Amino acid sequence: MKINFIGGAQEVGGSCIAVETDYAKVALDYGVKVGESDFEEFPDDFDVVIISHAHLDHSGNLLSLSQAKPVIVGSKITRDVTTDLLHDMIKIRKINGNHFPYSNKHAHNVKKSWWVRDSIALPGMSIQLYPAGHVAGAKMACIRTEGKEILYTGDFCLHDTEILEGCNPKTLPGALDVLIIESTYGGKTRPQRNKLVDQLFKQILSTIERKGNVLIPAFAFHRSQEMAKRIDKAMKEGILPSYRVYTISNLANRITGYFNTYKEFFTHEIQKQKSPFNYQHVRHLRRTKQIKEPAIVICTSGFGHAGASFHLLNEWAADEDNSIIISSGYLPPESPLKIAKEKGVLINNGKKTQVHAEVEQIELSGHADQRELVQMVRELKPKRTVLVHGELEQAQALSEEISEITEVSIPKRGETIAL
Ligand SMILES: [Zn+2]
Repeated sequence: MKINFIGGAQEVGGSCIAVETDYAKVALDYGVKVGESDFEEFPDDFDVVIISHAHLDHSGNLLSLSQAKPVIVGSKITRDVTTDLLHDMIKIRKINGNHFPYSNKHAHNVKKSWWVRDSIALPGMSIQLYPAGHVAGAKMACIRTEGKEILYTGDFCLHDTEILEGCNPKTLPGALDVLIIESTYGGKTRPQRNKLVDQLFKQILSTIERKGNVLIPAFAFHRSQEMAKRIDKAMKEGILPSYRVYTISNLANRITGYFNTYKEFFTHEIQKQKSPFNYQHVRHLRRTKQIKEPAIVICTSGFGHAGASFHLLNEWAADEDNSIIISSGYLPPESPLKIAKEKGVLINNGKKTQVHAEVEQIELSGHADQRELVQMVRELKPKRTVLVHGELEQAQALSEEISEITEVSIPKRGETIAL
């Protein structure tokens, strides 16, 4: 058996791993590097492609597979959100006028090739999926073949969040031969989630007291709904006073519809509610013109480089009464949010604006931090652990923490491990 690390090795983005025996060839994820204009060419001779979750760095390259038509396996919500994100990617490429070889037909083909299931059998191989935390519908994949067990975590989170249960390592197969684990935060330990939520509410409250606006750029999938639900609940419970709260992304609004329909992916608490993501204090708007200030606005893009968040960032950043809250841990080097946070300026069409609004980064991440990554390895005690989906520095920091428990490798892109 061979495991080939095609993408997402010593880096974040473009995740793809091939597991191949004499009888079967499987891909674990098929992603793109978000923000890069060209797709990387991956092999397309797979029998099955497993998609761990609906983030494009794990699924975006599926458009290039629509000729080869392998079976795609993943959860129902991953299927629906992935195809929506693919349609959205095609739309954006068209608006920007870039040459793009794929159309909506290719995104439809992805949906048609999708099998919603938690297990699949191939000649001499069986694959079982397990809940991963991270985002709604995220799965880990355990491959059993040639008498060996390999677990691929995808992106995961051990602690519960407001809407999602964390992954429980006790429910995962023990006695693994190989654990392929993400290492995004391999060198970083974050404060407890409730501390971060307190910090968020404090920032919102102080902005409300001076009647300012709060801009919260967020991804359309999961982070938008999680943030809206969190603020809605805090207002219902009187933790925050009532204030105008809006979401703007139409894509996020459509995804919210899936969240109301597929309640089984969420916590028991959420499942008990009739339409858990129909909010009392949060209204959906179609465009920024409809905003009545002052307000709290949750909108895309998550990095502030396009859409409503780009527009409002330019509108609100110069006013010291306003706040900009960044909930993502990672920001691309050239993104407006990163420049606003680190240099205190905004650059739009060559025009420089000083940022006087408060810019706070509160990392309400869905990834395991170093403590949780180490806990995972400790619980599963694999013979060998392979670190992927992390910058080299992060992977090395994690490697130091776990090298007494397990044999560790940090493969480069294109590297193959033979078992
Ligand atoms: Zn992810």
